[in-house]
Amino acid sequence: MAVPDRIEARRGVAIPVFDPRPDIEPIRAEVLEAIAGVVDSGRFILGEQVAGLEDEVAAYLGVRHAVGVNSGTDALVIALRSLGVGPGHEVITTPFTFFATPEAVTTIGATPVFVDIDPATFTIDPSAIEAAITARTAAIVPVHLFGLAADMDPILEVARRHGLRVVEDLAQAMGGSAGGRKLGTIGDAAALSFFPTKNLGGFGDGGMIVTDDDEAAALARKLRTHGSAKKYANELFGYNSRLDELQAAVLRVRLRTLDDANAARRGAAARYDELLDGIDGLARPIAARAAGHVYHQFTIRVPGGRRDEVRDRLGAEGIGTAVYYPIPCHRLPPYADLGVTLAEAEAAAAEVLSLPMWPSIPDDAVRAVGDALGRAMR
Ligand SMILES: *Cc1c(COP(=O)(O)O)cnc(C)c1O
Repeated sequence: MAVPDRIEARRGVAIPVFDPRPDIEPIRAEVLEAIAGVVDSGRFILGEQVAGLEDEVAAYLGVRHAVGVNSGTDALVIALRSLGVGPGHEVITTPFTFFATPEAVTTIGATPVFVDIDPATFTIDPSAIEAAITARTAAIVPVHLFGLAADMDPILEVARRHGLRVVEDLAQAMGGSAGGRKLGTIGDAAALSFFPTKNLGGFGDGGMIVTDDDEAAALARKLRTHGSAKKYANELFGYNSRLDELQAAVLRVRLRTLDDANAARRGAAARYDELLDGIDGLARPIAARAAGHVYHQFTIRVPGGRRDEVRDRLGAEGIGTAVYYPIPCHRLPPYADLGVTLAEAEAAAAEVLSLPMWPSIPDDAVRAVGDALGRAMR
């Protein structure tokens, strides 16, 4: 059955905030062939497709090890544990992220310590980290939010001085870079998510830990299979966090088009930048133009308490938008008892608006969004 061209059908009617199908269409035959290969192989969990994907992701990033797991959340949990982070430890991270980031820290019995963000980039403010370090601090988890690198050099510097591990949350920035280095290769380990909306998205859940640390990689491999390197020789409490062959087969095809897809996102972002330059009252992260941004989201700030009104006006014109994230993690009920105030994260949560973005978003859709934003801001 042919897949209808949703963008064509929707043109002039509605523009969704995200649509995975137009970018699957050109690789559809290859993906279906890869899926058929798995069906015919009779091997469905941790087989040659997963091993192949692990090798290819490691080669793509230029790291020694890649360990496929069930989700990005599990990748964070297992990466932290593999580096020796656990009960009683504190982990410094950003509150302006998906809940999974601090949740992973809490899951392993450690405590997230939130520090504020740099309002120009939405990523963790490196200058706020040192004051949050205590005798119990074991690690820092910077998040490369919306496809843009966290400011890694000062983060690594403070980590080195205090003997802290650094786990990059790479869920939203696979393929991105900073200062010529691929994101995910800068800290001690990184956690990838293959959730379908992510830059390297599968057709279901999946994730991966990448690291150059041989011991951490070996421990991660045990932890994903109930703490055993060998079947029925369980050495410690781990997880059922295996990656399946169907996801891996699909992801191997998609990895081959990742750089092109990210370049296409950058092209769409450049067109948004031009259009938004002509609209007064909107702010964009300064670094949004930085090389290496892979635009998981194209996120603007609508100041002056007008964000929700502008969002409604775009919605009335059939334009989908999203708010990532309406409540910073330190204000969500599980962490509200911490009682911290983080002014920049809270201001960002009140002002951010993510515009329609996917690699092959048509030019006229971007233009329509820009025009509608101009009208909404008047
Ligand atoms: C998606 C995401 C995760 C979690 O990944 P899942 O695969 O959904 O478990 C973690 N951190 C960030 C920043 C994310 O965007």
